[in-house]
This record gives sequence, structure tokens and C-alpha cells, in this order.
Amino acid sequence: MAIKKSTSPEEIYDVYIEGKYVGVKSADKVFKEKKIVVCGKSICTAFVGNVIECVFDRIEKTVIECVYKWEEFIKNYPEFKNLEHMRCAGCGRTFKEIVESGETEAVLDLVFISADGKYEYPYGLNDIALCYYCYENETNYSVGEADIFVLVRNAIIEVRVSLFNNFYFVSEDDIPDDVYQEVMAIVHEFANEVGTSIRFTQTGQRRGYEVNREKLKNWKILHDMIVYRSESKKELKKFEEEMRKILEEKNTPYARLFLSTCSLFSSVYMLIIRTKDIDEADLVHLYTLASMLGSKHRNKCER
Ligand SMILES: [Zn+2]
Repeated sequence: MAIKKSTSPEEIYDVYIEGKYVGVKSADKVFKEKKIVVCGKSICTAFVGNVIECVFDRIEKTVIECVYKWEEFIKNYPEFKNLEHMRCAGCGRTFKEIVESGETEAVLDLVFISADGKYEYPYGLNDIALCYYCYENETNYSVGEADIFVLVRNAIIEVRVSLFNNFYFVSEDDIPDDVYQEVMAIVHEFANEVGTSIRFTQTGQRRGYEVNREKLKNWKILHDMIVYRSESKKELKKFEEEMRKILEEKNTPYARLFLSTCSLFSSVYMLIIRTKDIDEADLVHLYTLASMLGSKHRNKCER
């Protein structure tokens, strides 16, 4: 492909049709052509219709990136043969759509998720794939972090769970082997119930994640508040210390959940308990205590 210098790289391009120079055209006219190469100051772009096929470096005279047709792609990567209709669980696009929109690497570096895969605990999904972009989004931005407290054989086991849109990670290394099954059953129940109830909300001044309370069954939010900066975290600690004593007497699993908000300086705090084995009167008592202690510390927490 021969390249000529364009007179005005901002708006006008040298145009080559199937390798033949056809002169200078403006960008809008260029897009109506069938198969053309458009050159700006430093790059040339080959189009088929209005789809970019290849981008070339005009100065180095090298190919920067070429968009594959699926058929060409599987010639180079035969391991993807017959997978063109497989979808990314995050963005919902088929592998073919991803490759043909020029995001070849998102398919090449995709992550398969299974029981022994990279993500151990997807929400109700088996053997699914996540394109690299979605995988990166998932792992970079968790929607919330939870610490679950389970009382087994007179010891409190604390488990950290990171909740993502479609998955959750469990820091399971600290769970003693002899109580592993027992504790993990509670952790999975929490993640599957509370984790899948998290949604993004944009109402009033609150922009961020919240729990859809209507979806909760075995777990209930005992108290929630917005926490700002480190100073209010001290007050939160006092609130928690008092609540924990009460909850541990009830012998029920509970969790603290921090949800992300759109502000770097605040997060939503929730104290969540497993209400399955708590009777109604006890529950009312717990709500009352939480609300009392909450308002005692609330003013300081929410300033
Ligand atoms: Zn995706």
C-alpha cells in the first residue's frame, strides 16, 4: 500500500481503493466507500463498509492492529473453533461479536469459570466464560466487602468475602479444617442471598450500591448507616463492639457489609444477621437495641 501525504490530516484524507490511489476526500465521503484505506497524519485505516478492518502506522509502515473476521481468527486460534456462539457472561456478547468488533484480546485472554476455575464461587452459574474486559472490571471493582462471623464450637470464625456483580471471592485460608464445611455453608448462603440482592441505585444524594431488602429471606439488615472517613469509623467500632456482645449471646451468624458508593470518602455500612433461628420477640428486641445504639453513634458517624 502506497501512502501519500495528506494535505489536511484533520479533515481530508488520501484514499486508496483496493490499493489504487483515488485522490483526496473528506472524511464523511470516505465512509460511504466500500473498501478503502484512509490516511491521516500518522495512521492509515482500512475500512470494509464502515467497519474498521486494519489500522496501520503510516510512518513506521507497520500494521498496528487488524480486526479479524471470525473465519480468519480461528485459522490462527483453532482452539476457538465452534465457540463463535458462546457468550461472555458479563457483557452478553458472543465470541464472534467480540472478535469482529476488534477486541480480539478480550477473547484470547478470557477466563473460564468453573468449580476449579479462577473464580471459585459464581452466583448460580456453572462453566461460564468471562471476556477479559469484563473479568478486569469484575476484579477491579467490587460492589462490597463483607466480614461474616460464625460461632462454631465456642470460637468465632471471621471470614472475609468480596462481592462482585456476578461472583464472590472467599478468603477461606483462615477457616480451620475441622469447621470448614459448617462455616462455608453459612458463607455461601450469605453470598448467594445478600450478594445477589445488591443493586446499584441513584436516588437523591445516595449514589452507590444498596441491598434490595425484599429479596432477603434468611438474613436481615439489623442496622445501616453511611460511614465517612476514619473518624466516624471509630464511632462505628464502638457501635459494633456493643452489638457484637449482644449478637454472640444469641449465637447467630452475623455480618458486617461495606458497600461502595460513588464517593471515595464514604461507604454504606450494614450490620446483617441470620434471622432463620431467631424468634420474633428476640428479633424485635435486637432491632430496638440496634436502633438505640445506632442513634447513639449515628450523629457522629454521619457528619
Ligand atoms: Zn464481556
